[in-house]
Amino acid sequence: MATKELTAYPLYEGTFSVGLDKKFNRINRDDPPAKGALKISLNPFLIQSGDKNILFDVGIGDFGEDTSTDIIKENLDEIGLTEYDITDIFASHLHYDHIGGLAGRSSGYWELTFPDANVWVSKKGWEKVMAQEEYYDEEKTAFTHFLDAKANLQFLDEKDQPYPEVTVKKIGGHTEFSQVLLFDDDSHKYMMAGDVLATRGEVNRKFAAKYDFDADQSMKVRQELTEKAYEEGYTVMGYHDSHHPLFNLTDYDEQQGYKIESVV
Ligand SMILES: [Zn+2]
Repeated sequence: MATKELTAYPLYEGTFSVGLDKKFNRINRDDPPAKGALKISLNPFLIQSGDKNILFDVGIGDFGEDTSTDIIKENLDEIGLTEYDITDIFASHLHYDHIGGLAGRSSGYWELTFPDANVWVSKKGWEKVMAQEEYYDEEKTAFTHFLDAKANLQFLDEKDQPYPEVTVKKIGGHTEFSQVLLFDDDSHKYMMAGDVLATRGEVNRKFAAKYDFDADQSMKVRQELTEKAYEEGYTVMGYHDSHHPLFNLTDYDEQQGYKIESVV
């Protein structure tokens, strides 16, 4: 059978109601968020290619309600992997619901969740985090300093291609140094743009997001990326989508916009 084997998996961590206090309160996948709050699901993505097991973002880890780095380990276990099998982690941007899973302290002290992985981050983005007096709060500041000292951090330039199959470009918008992560190994193509294109619902919607560093830039890049995904056949990875985080744009109509088809 000529079916393409699946090489990418969303590692669903949960769905949360996130209000002005930025706390991630767990809700059911189908529930609405609290009044005035945003509904945010978290899907780190695993891509298997050759001898690499790559993650695009790693979830919130210990920093949400009822969350821990055990969730991503359990999700990997279902695919037959352990945390030691992860070779590379790419971060779309450095908000804690995207990189929180890099380290946990369930044992009482900080430990790397994926001890053998290279952790690829925007060089300027990381410098900005480290230059801040505080990253959200005291605990998360300790988390970033632990990563700075102990993780196998690898720094990415504004346009970079650390492996033949992975290309990273600075897009800004959501944060000053947000990146789009592109994977292409000749048989599979994936695009992950963090919060610039985070759900299926954002594909055909023009909107300026209050939570963005530069909402106009996000709007512009969102449109460019959907065009690119459609024309070049990238499967989009929607990190915050609640039900179908992997999808393809299969058709375009001036009135209706893109036709979206879920992958599994
Ligand atoms: Zn996000």
